[in-house]
Amino acid sequence: MNTENIKLKEQADKVFIGTYARYPATMVEGDGCWLTDSDGRKYLDFLTGIAVCSLGHCHPEVTKAIQHQANKLVHVSNLYYTEPMTRLAEILVANSFAEKVFMANSGAEANEAAIKLARIHAAEGRFEIISLQGSFHGRTMATLAATGQPKFHKGFEPIPQGFLHAPFGDLPALEKMITDRTCAIICEPLQGEGGVRVLQREYLQGIRNLCDKHDLLLIFDEIQTGLGRTGTLFAYEQSEVTPDIMTLAKALANGLPIGAMLTTSKIAKSFVPGTHGSTFGGNPVASAAAVATLNVMLKECFLDDVKTQGKYFSAELQKLADQHPALLSGVRGVGLILGAVLTQAGITVGPDIVKRMFEKGFLMNFAGNLVLRFVPPLIVTKGEIDALIIGLSEVLAEYSAQSG
Ligand SMILES: *Cc1c(COP(=O)(O)O)cnc(C)c1O
Repeated sequence: MNTENIKLKEQADKVFIGTYARYPATMVEGDGCWLTDSDGRKYLDFLTGIAVCSLGHCHPEVTKAIQHQANKLVHVSNLYYTEPMTRLAEILVANSFAEKVFMANSGAEANEAAIKLARIHAAEGRFEIISLQGSFHGRTMATLAATGQPKFHKGFEPIPQGFLHAPFGDLPALEKMITDRTCAIICEPLQGEGGVRVLQREYLQGIRNLCDKHDLLLIFDEIQTGLGRTGTLFAYEQSEVTPDIMTLAKALANGLPIGAMLTTSKIAKSFVPGTHGSTFGGNPVASAAAVATLNVMLKECFLDDVKTQGKYFSAELQKLADQHPALLSGVRGVGLILGAVLTQAGITVGPDIVKRMFEKGFLMNFAGNLVLRFVPPLIVTKGEIDALIIGLSEVLAEYSAQSG
């Protein structure tokens, strides 16, 4: 680490509450799949601001939309109509099962809106929401309660009531948890933070059937899987299972904070003036960025290219897994959300592998204490995938030599 990076790290560590163990780099510029730090070092970004800048850093169309809107109108609150937010909702409705949208500023806020809608829509006495073990739904108190990972709950007790966590992949166990208090089931079509765990089509269909049988709402948290990440605009399209409510955030505005909760007209009626709100939700600048983002993603071939690159990347990762069986047991994921699954020996060195990759100029992370996770910008090229694979191959060789 050179001088500029060290200077800012020291200043920052003095003033920030320590919720993050940051990497020792100060990022100053982004372009496509590349970031540059304050010492001029370049990084190939396969973490993408945690699956956010899906069109790459500073995509020209999005930058143009932000600049244009920032010159015109930045904020008025939801007491008035604005054009960008209306256009955004129209695009979301036109391209999904949904008929109505509520705008928020983050994933957790979108999920909070979904949880509140499910509860207020339910009959008297029905308030429980079942989620899955290993899930991640956010860090606010209700979304934390929905998150099926006890490590996130520790120290924050009492956790808000009314959330149950069903074992992953077990439909009979899930059905046993349904009572006359249950109002909804929430899940991610693919668990991102939980370690790139795919919910198979039959499993999702089974969950849908349970919701229909017991008159429950099905909420899909597509905050990480939505917006092209899996090769379709929304992951649910590939399962042929339609949710009643869907939440979006992360990649929606390619880096500006925004969240959305989508549902049908019938369910949306349970929210009326005064039941829910957000001062910033649907902010004109963030919405303009989101409209520009969606316009790029909906261009012909964009999503097909995600599938093509995803298949190529997955096959290349599988080759690495074959070469390093002591560390990697396989590859999973859909489109451009991929996880190289670590063996028991691999898990112990997982954080070190990520650190070594960082030192070599590659950004990625260790998810769910299980996998090396890759969520590159959806515009990633074959050459950039090859570069990552070469870097990872060198690092795996170092650790294979140690563990063999
Ligand atoms: C990131 C994430 C969230 C939380 O989003 P924030 O914007 O950090 O509040 C919720 N659910 C899923 C599936 C996520 O990946």
